[in-house]
Amino acid sequence: MGGPLPSSNEPGVANLNSELGPFTWENDEVRVNIPYSAAGVSTTILLTSKFTGKIMLLDIGDGALRDLLAMGRLDFITEIDMIAISHGHFDHMGGLHSLLGFLRMMNRKEMLHILLPPNCVEAIEVIKGFRGVYSETLPFAFLYHELSDGTGFDTDFFKVSARQVEHFGMECPTDEEVLMPALGYRVKVGGTIIAYTGDTRPCSAIEDLIRGADLAIIEATHKETPESSRRAHLSESEATSLAKLAKDHLIIHRIPDIER
Ligand SMILES: [Zn+2]
Repeated sequence: MGGPLPSSNEPGVANLNSELGPFTWENDEVRVNIPYSAAGVSTTILLTSKFTGKIMLLDIGDGALRDLLAMGRLDFITEIDMIAISHGHFDHMGGLHSLLGFLRMMNRKEMLHILLPPNCVEAIEVIKGFRGVYSETLPFAFLYHELSDGTGFDTDFFKVSARQVEHFGMECPTDEEVLMPALGYRVKVGGTIIAYTGDTRPCSAIEDLIRGADLAIIEATHKETPESSRRAHLSESEATSLAKLAKDHLIIHRIPDIER
């Protein structure tokens, strides 16, 4: 640590490193916005259909609500159709309670679907807690759906298939590997396919997810490929080589530079 702190008119940590976003991508059918993505901090990905205006979120990290508002958007209050959470680590679901609270405050009426890996206890407990506290005064209905490997869930606007990927964190405190419930997603918006790895080490499922996609959103937490196979993330070179399976790609989930 060291060095001067930014003065008030300089960008905050989120903007010091362009590898952390924002990222955008679009074609005729869909716009992708990733306001911010950093390993161990937060990742939120927005897919917006250009035809229907409907929005899907892939992960909902801390600050997702602030990021949405900072983009100057209020359409999400009514237009978010679905949130797909890749796994229960805080940097992927820490913004869920805030967003649900905001939607309640703004009197949303539309149904909301939340997709999760099976037994994703971190997100399920947030959902149950929120519902328990506000059940009498909740203006909108929401359902959560636990997706196992190879299953999917469709709304009128987004068609989602899920693959189990290989990830763990502090669930794995001993030498014995304990994988956690973790999914990657492949989403069809009109005729466009967007693939998202979530957090994962190399595994065949992510190749299936990415292959032929119009856009692959790939995590690359490690700068260098670790020697050990006992790990939970992809490296930049692995992400770059996986990217060749898709028509286009964005690389996200880098380690933020906190040495200032
Ligand atoms: Zn993560």
